Amino acid sequence: MKNFAYSRAETVEGAVNLLSQQANSKFLGGGTNLVDLMRENIEQPDALIDVTRLLPARKPDAGITELPDGGLSIGAAVRNSAVANHGLVRERYPLLSQAILFGASGQIRNMATTGGNLMQRTRCYYFYDDAARCNKRKPGAGCDAIDGFNRMHAILGASDSCIATHPSDMCVALAALDATVHVRGSGGERSIPMNDFHRLPGDTPHVETNLRADELITAIQLPPLPFARNSRYRKVRDRASYAFALVSVAAAMEVENGAIRNIRVALGGVAHKPWRAYQAEKAMVGKKSTRETFLLAADAELRNARGYGYNNFKIELAKRTMVSVLSELAEAGGVR
Ligand code: SF4
Repeated sequence: MKNFAYSRAETVEGAVNLLSQQANSKFLGGGTNLVDLMRENIEQPDALIDVTRLLPARKPDAGITELPDGGLSIGAAVRNSAVANHGLVRERYPLLSQAILFGASGQIRNMATTGGNLMQRTRCYYFYDDAARCNKRKPGAGCDAIDGFNRMHAILGASDSCIATHPSDMCVALAALDATVHVRGSGGERSIPMNDFHRLPGDTPHVETNLRADELITAIQLPPLPFARNSRYRKVRDRASYAFALVSVAAAMEVENGAIRNIRVALGGVAHKPWRAYQAEKAMVGKKSTRETFLLAADAELRNARGYGYNNFKIELAKRTMVSVLSELAEAGGVR
């Protein structure tokens, strides 16, 4: 690991100022992905700005507040385990609690922060192997995954430059919930819809988010969504714990008189960003909550999916997982 300067921010403004003073600097929160990447020499920042002092008081629910409209605000420095175990999250947004609990290990969830979870990077094996060609690590170098062992790679929204997937479980639930990411930079504050926060690879796979170079994530806001009480997160992976998703599904459903009144679906493990299943949602609204409807919706969403060899199985797996989760939600009923 190369040498780097270290400083500790006491305020959000201070953190943003420190970032603007030092080129090639990074924020350090829980460090659960960044420190690994630094050890592997994939990330080589000249300076680290420790933002852990920006953590709210060390109470389990500190930093999670109910909004006047019934939504929730989750501070960027709140630990993943605090979000997953918070009473209001479990009651109103169970898919988010489940998604976090499916990620990593208890120890990692106790260190990882909400903002850091959004910023974690792909676990593509070739990205971590500096003997391999990787456009994300070295733009223009090529991509060894496309003709390589690509079992964990993307089937939707990929490009000839990169077929990596986003590794987060939490972000898949946030995409389904239409969360908003709040950020602060030298130009002030702004908010970014969750579904615009991460990017598809195109020909610039090294640019992974729409966060500007001088911006710090300050909070995630969840909108009020009463029907999200009937929601679920399912993760399919190679082993029962501590593995990234081959495919995951986050969904919420409201059924009224046998018809689907409201529906949200997002997929994980299939694209460079959490994949909001807009085509599937469109195919289901107003339709009967039957298995036939769910099969048609899954087909609609995966119509343009493409496998790269080892990951061809993911197309059928994504469809089946969607149908299974949607069937369970239909059976559980909806909240009016
Ligand atoms: Fe790099 Fe993306 Fe190719 Fe993986 S899939 S080797 S991250 S360019």
